Amino acid sequence: MFIGCHVSIKEGYYHAAKSAKQLNAASFQYFPKNPRSLNIKAYDTEDTRLCKQFCHEHDIVSISHSPYPTNLTPESPEQKKRVVRSILNDLHISDACGSLGVVVHFGKNKDANNPLYSYQLMIEVINEVMEQWDGKSMLLLENNAGKPGSIGTTMEELVKIRQLIDRPNSLGFCLDTCHAFASGLWNGDNWEYVMEHGNNLGYFQNLKVIHLNNSKYQAKSGKDRHANIFHGGYITEKQFDSILQSSVIQNIPLILETPKDKKNSHENEIAEIKSRWGR
Ligand SMILES: [Zn+2]
Repeated sequence: MFIGCHVSIKEGYYHAAKSAKQLNAASFQYFPKNPRSLNIKAYDTEDTRLCKQFCHEHDIVSISHSPYPTNLTPESPEQKKRVVRSILNDLHISDACGSLGVVVHFGKNKDANNPLYSYQLMIEVINEVMEQWDGKSMLLLENNAGKPGSIGTTMEELVKIRQLIDRPNSLGFCLDTCHAFASGLWNGDNWEYVMEHGNNLGYFQNLKVIHLNNSKYQAKSGKDRHANIFHGGYITEKQFDSILQSSVIQNIPLILETPKDKKNSHENEIAEIKSRWGR
């Protein structure tokens, strides 16, 4: 199983890959640049080359996560330009590191009277990015954590966006289990239904990564607060069984974005997950 976690690039991409290996992770996620800004990063190509080579040699899968201000439903034409430029920069870094793709969050609802406007805006932004991109790294669209009914919380929306963009083959999906639980996409007890429904829609055929997180709040709370898989979360181990033993997630990287402290390190969490669900 490709279980891993988010790691820091404070000391570079190559170091990030080595630190993932030290945690016994088979996959990892990183921010390609400062997570709080859309500023373009001029990256060290020797560092990215070493990262790529190390991952290849050790069979480690990496993905990157776009900075927080990456908004697929930008406020203004100026912001739209900045977002497009920043995502392209993330894709270049991701490709240079040999990563599968760049995770981006679904947009926000801009106009309560016309939700279609937000979807149209997202499609425009994604098309503008892809027009200028011919690398291997994909965009990986992540489901939102909002209350049931807010945008980006259903597989239907994710699949529809993919169908409507110009280059669907460059877009895959990232399923965050905390967000799915918070939004009610998965209520903890209906994984069989989610799987069947998602397969019919064409969702799981394009699922590339899972953010494996527990939730600090109950199902349908709409709250995006991640918890450790085994401690302090509302999703039970039995409920995780249904996902982690299912066929649709085989060979998909599972990335922990869970809080860590002295008592609960990612290294321990990865070891616990392997001992419970590893094969
Ligand atoms: Zn996530």
